[in-house]
Amino acid sequence: MSKQTDDLFKNIVSHAKEYGFVFQSSEIYDGLSAVYDYGQLGSELKNNLKTYWWKAMVQLNENIVGIDASIFMHPTTWKASGHVDGFSDPMIDNKDSKKRYRADQLIEDKIERYEKDGKTDKAAQLQKDMDDALNDDDLARLKAIIEEHNIVCPMSGTKNWTDVRQFNLMFSTQMGAMADGAEQVYLRPESAQGIFVNFLNVQKSGRMKIPFGIAQIGKAFRNEVIARQFIMRMREFEQMELQFFVRPGTELEWYEKWKEARLKWHLTLGAGADNYRFHDHVKLAHYANAAVDIEYNFPFGFKEIEGIHSRTDYDLKQHQEYSGKKLQYFDHELNQNYIPYVVETSVGVDRLFLSVFANALVHEDLSTEDKKDSRVVLKFHPAIAPVKAAIMPLTRKDGLPEKAREIMDKLKFNYNLQYDEKDSIGKRYRRQDAIGTPFCITVDHQTLEDNTVTIRHRDSMKQERIAADDLGRIIGDLTSWNNLLQQLV
Ligand code: ATP
Repeated sequence: MSKQTDDLFKNIVSHAKEYGFVFQSSEIYDGLSAVYDYGQLGSELKNNLKTYWWKAMVQLNENIVGIDASIFMHPTTWKASGHVDGFSDPMIDNKDSKKRYRADQLIEDKIERYEKDGKTDKAAQLQKDMDDALNDDDLARLKAIIEEHNIVCPMSGTKNWTDVRQFNLMFSTQMGAMADGAEQVYLRPESAQGIFVNFLNVQKSGRMKIPFGIAQIGKAFRNEVIARQFIMRMREFEQMELQFFVRPGTELEWYEKWKEARLKWHLTLGAGADNYRFHDHVKLAHYANAAVDIEYNFPFGFKEIEGIHSRTDYDLKQHQEYSGKKLQYFDHELNQNYIPYVVETSVGVDRLFLSVFANALVHEDLSTEDKKDSRVVLKFHPAIAPVKAAIMPLTRKDGLPEKAREIMDKLKFNYNLQYDEKDSIGKRYRRQDAIGTPFCITVDHQTLEDNTVTIRHRDSMKQERIAADDLGRIIGDLTSWNNLLQQLV
């Protein structure tokens, strides 16, 4: 990371902490690595992002329904899905620093360095060599590549490497009271399997006809060895997944449709098309016949925010085999039974949060010829802003606080609001800018006379005088989900 992007990223992390968006988990005990807590405003923002996804998926599509499956699943689930045997990363340890690294990430860092130094041919060749080795699961070759390119441990600076080994990313624990009689269970590493095992339950109870989708938002757990970049790579994170069941042979058509639909969804959040790109997978997972990432231009470069996979009939077939239960669909139009094919879209809530937060955080220079001035603003789309409006009596006397409370009491049933009567109005505006509140409503002496208030708009900083009775409508119009959802249809 260059010094500038490093500073930008540090700024994001510190702003998120200072204003109650994201805290390190168990901070008073010096934290737990790669685990984070969402604070009072972060949880509001996160909930809003989840609501927007849910509405876009479940509410706008008649043929998509949502479920909420458990984190614990029968252990055979993970044998069937391939996670027990195959959900691992190639790891390498440095014998001097005793630090463990993902072999492919060490190589990727080297590729980045070659690119920065203008050695594009060398970077391309290294990328190809690594992709080939990963494709062939050739761990010895990965180690040889690391040695050939003089890749050193960032901690010790030495090349004293162990062999490359596979390291399973699933967390396990015991279920049942007695340790010896207990069953080993896993914390799910993806939410998708909770959908596959419920495929028939939902299809039958909901009388769903193919093509149809099952959506889910939920936690997933991965024992990521290298935790880095704040909430980008966590050990406990949240996913929003759609598994879309289709007729065999139509999956690639649906894959293309979902690719476009998902990119469109991200674009409505306002970060601009230049900040997104598709990245096709070179190495396809064992279950996929096509796969692409939507990457976002984070302060540290383009990185995956969402994965879209054509998963074939792999998962349902595996569960059918391991459970001995038929997981098939009778297609009345074709008069035929088959195991449906699946297209998956899977977006990480935390990475989405980071992208939205990073894009919204703006430092604005407001200096005039006579006065230096600036402000920090979180320019969230009003629909996802954690606080919709702040209600502020101009002074703490003359009955203004009571009037402000009266206005607030009418609006609070529909909107998340803050009441603020401390400091000058200017300082209060700045505080609300820094948390992204779209409207500040000031109650002054005129309010007592004619029931009007001033409403100040976050982005333009313009103020207008309006009837207090119109507040509900005005806030409602600008913060409505319709503004986002209508762009999708
Ligand atoms: P990566 O290659 O970055 O490890 P992945 O390809 O393993 O990610 P998927 O299994 O496709 O990720 O999961 C879907 C989405 O879940 C990702 O696009 C990402 O947004 C999110 N995600 C995956 N792992 C993590 C993690 N450790 N922390 C936060 N979000 C994650």
